[in-house]
Amino acid sequence: MTYAKPLPSIDRWNKPFWDAARQGELQLQTCEDCGHWWFPPAPVCPSCLSTRVTWKRASGRGKIWSRCRFHHIYDKAFADEAPYNVCMIELEEGPLFISNVVGAAWEDIGIGDAVEACFEKATEEVTLVRFKLAEK
Ligand SMILES: [Zn+2]
Repeated sequence: MTYAKPLPSIDRWNKPFWDAARQGELQLQTCEDCGHWWFPPAPVCPSCLSTRVTWKRASGRGKIWSRCRFHHIYDKAFADEAPYNVCMIELEEGPLFISNVVGAAWEDIGIGDAVEACFEKATEEVTLVRFKLAEK
């Protein structure tokens, strides 16, 4: 079965992120000079502009910082899933990450709820990073 939804453009800056996701890991860039973590990928540290940038495995844990529910069909490929949630996850390392919370009813997704990353293979090249509610 082919994956019918839009796929990310993989380039030299984000390739390590997608390679890690394919292995079931959430990796983010960090700064070797100031210790800052960020997402999306950038060639320099957005905090101190250092070029001493490295990729490190993140915990995959975070909490829901914001949530919304999409009812409008912006792309026909998502028609069967509407309404679906789009959440901003505040990762333990600091960055905000936009994704979906899977396996939970909308009513059960609350601001501040703990979540953890899970991985959904879309194609041979792309594995999507989603989140599920953490065990309480
Ligand atoms: Zn820095």
